[in-house]
Amino acid sequence: MSVRVRFAPSPTGNVHIGNIRAAIFNWLFARHEGGAFLLRVEDTDRERSTPEAIQTLLSCMAWLGLDYDEPEVYQSRNTARHLAVAEDLLARGLAYREAKGGGGECVIFRMPTEGRLEFADLVKGVIRKKAEDTQDFVIVRSDGTPVFHLANVVDDVDMAITHVIRGDDHVENTFKHIELFKAMGAPIPHYAHLPMIVNNQGKPYSKRDGAAFVGEFREQGYLPDALFNFLLLLGWATGDDREVLTREEMIRLFTLDRCKSSAARFDIKKLIWMNGEYIRRQPREVYAAEFVSRLNAAGLSADGVDLDGIMDQMQVRTKFYSEIPASCAYFFTDAYAFDPKGVEKRLKADGVPELLEDAAERYAALDVFDLQTTHDVLAAMGEARGTGLGAMVHPVRVAVSGLTEGPGLFEMLALLGRDRVCARLRAVARALRDGLPL
Ligand code: GLU
Repeated sequence: MSVRVRFAPSPTGNVHIGNIRAAIFNWLFARHEGGAFLLRVEDTDRERSTPEAIQTLLSCMAWLGLDYDEPEVYQSRNTARHLAVAEDLLARGLAYREAKGGGGECVIFRMPTEGRLEFADLVKGVIRKKAEDTQDFVIVRSDGTPVFHLANVVDDVDMAITHVIRGDDHVENTFKHIELFKAMGAPIPHYAHLPMIVNNQGKPYSKRDGAAFVGEFREQGYLPDALFNFLLLLGWATGDDREVLTREEMIRLFTLDRCKSSAARFDIKKLIWMNGEYIRRQPREVYAAEFVSRLNAAGLSADGVDLDGIMDQMQVRTKFYSEIPASCAYFFTDAYAFDPKGVEKRLKADGVPELLEDAAERYAALDVFDLQTTHDVLAAMGEARGTGLGAMVHPVRVAVSGLTEGPGLFEMLALLGRDRVCARLRAVARALRDGLPL
C-alpha cells in the first residue's frame, strides 16, 4: 500500500510555524516513502477562510518548496458528502438526533461505553483511554453544518490517507476519529502526533513570544531553506550531531522513528545561526548578487575595492542579508557610521588619540603592509605599553570601521589598505582630541 499523507490546515490569514512544521514532516515522509503528499484546505470557517487567507497559505507553501501531488482539496466543497455520511450513521443507529441549545436538532455520534480505546502512535507510543471517560459528540450542528471531526475523517477516508501526521493538540480528537473510521468501515490510518513547540518557559510558543508566522520570518530575511531546516529540528533529529542538511539528505534520512516525543523548544538564536549557515553555504554568485544590490541600494559602489576579498570575509559572518551594507559600509566609504556604544567603550579612554596616531605612524613606515606586519606593530605597541595586544586591537577596529565586530582586524586592515587605514586613524585621533563628533 503506498503512502498517502496530507497537510490539512484551516486558513486564518497567518500560517503558524507549528502548522507548517506539520506540513514539512508530512512532505518529507511522503518524499522518503515515494508516496503522495496532498493538501486539504479545511476552509469550513467561511469568515476566516477568505481567498486572501488561502492565498497566504499557498504562497507560504510555495516559498518553502512544499509541492503537493494532486490538486488541493477544499473541504467546504464536500459538505453534501459529510452530511450523507451523517445520515448513513443515523440510519445505522451509530448516531442519533438530539435537541441542543435553542431547540434545534444536532446529530450526535455514539462513542463506545465499555472497554478501552487505544492506538499506537508512531511518535508517542500506545495511548489509551477508558471508554467510560469518553463522551458522545456532535457531528452535525443544529444549523446543519458538519463539525470538524466528521469533515476531517470523511475527507481522510475519501482521500485514502494512510498516515495522519499532525500536532499533538489533536491526540484527544484521535479517539473520536478512530471510532468514526470504524463506523464508516474504513481502514484506520497510522497516527503520528508531533510534540508541541514551546517557549523558554515550556509554554506553547505563541506570537507573544516573538515571530510565530511564516510570513514574519520571511519578512525578517530568513531564507526558506534555513527556516525549513530549523523547523525540521523541532521534533526530529538525525541521530548523529548533524543539523544542517540538504533537502536530499533530509528526504533520505526522514523516518518517523526519529521523531521526538518531548516538547520542542523554540530557540531563536539557533534559527539565526541556521540562517547564517545557509547564507555561508550559498554559491558565491548568489551571495554576490544580493551583496552588490544592497550596496547599490544604499548608494555605495564596489569600484576600486577587492570585492571578492571583502565577500570572503563577509559571507561567513552574514546572518541576514539586511545587515548589508551597515555591517561593512566602511569598506566602501570613508563616511562610515560610528556605533556610539563602541565609541564610548573603546575610543573615549585616556591615551586613545596617542595610541591611534602611534599606530598610524608605524603603519606608514612599514615596508610591507599585510596581515603579519599590521599584527606585529600592534603587538609591539601593546608590549611597550604593558597592556597587551587586546588593548590595541579594539580602539583601532572601532576607529577604522566604526564597529566593534566584523572580520578579524588584520584581515580588515589588509583589505582597507594602508592609505585608508592611516588616514582614518589620524582623522579619528584628531576628532577625539578636538572633541568633535565622529
Ligand atoms: N484543520 C486541522 C488543524 O489545522 C487539521 C488537523 C489534522 O491534520 O487532522 O489543526
